[in-house]
Amino acid sequence: MSSKGLLFVVSAPSGTGKTTVCEELVKIVPGLELSRSYTSRPPRSNEKDGVDYNFISREDFEQRIFHGDFLEHADVFGNYYGTGRAETEARLASGRDLVLVIDVQGARQVRSQLPSTVGVFVMPPSFAVLERRLRQRSADPEPAIQRRLAAARDEVSAVMEYEYVVINDVLGRCVNELAGIVLAERARRHRRDHDIAPIMKTFE
Ligand code: 5GP
Repeated sequence: MSSKGLLFVVSAPSGTGKTTVCEELVKIVPGLELSRSYTSRPPRSNEKDGVDYNFISREDFEQRIFHGDFLEHADVFGNYYGTGRAETEARLASGRDLVLVIDVQGARQVRSQLPSTVGVFVMPPSFAVLERRLRQRSADPEPAIQRRLAAARDEVSAVMEYEYVVINDVLGRCVNELAGIVLAERARRHRRDHDIAPIMKTFE
């Protein structure tokens, strides 16, 4: 798989606030878009199909796995989550930069297919803060919260696999740091060859 656009994967333990961070990020960085995942999880009361996720049945999800429709997919907390292959490839091919907000298993699958993927890990300020945020969100029953906290311990141990780390203590600061990462990646010299060549010509 090759692409013209840049692909960013953002992972974090559930409850870190990565979705909010990324929604704010795409508002302030032109040319950067958020991918919409597929999931077999039922929508929460505040979620809309086609906005937060594409909500589909387990059967539909399994059919799509069978047909190779996902760039990556994972079983997270007993539900399927995945990124559509065709739409991702089409958006990247058209030169748009994309952010995938996915778990660490999915990030590994994406990186293996597209090694130029830029990985950003969002850390909560501490375990205690993460626990408090998960309870405040309280959309989930206690066993689900406990499962998410146990998974968080595993997920943070994957931080070494990512190129960048931001800490979500203050939302605005975290969003600005992420924006800085996107702009820095865009400015890498090897990605600027197209811009450089005509300028060099003016020096001849
Ligand atoms: P939630 O149910 O709280 O919306 O998400 C649970 C977890 O699934 C989060 O860690 C989130 O990053 C992950 N997730 C959401 N979409 C995807 C996806 O398309 N692929 C993978 N691998 N994980 C996803």
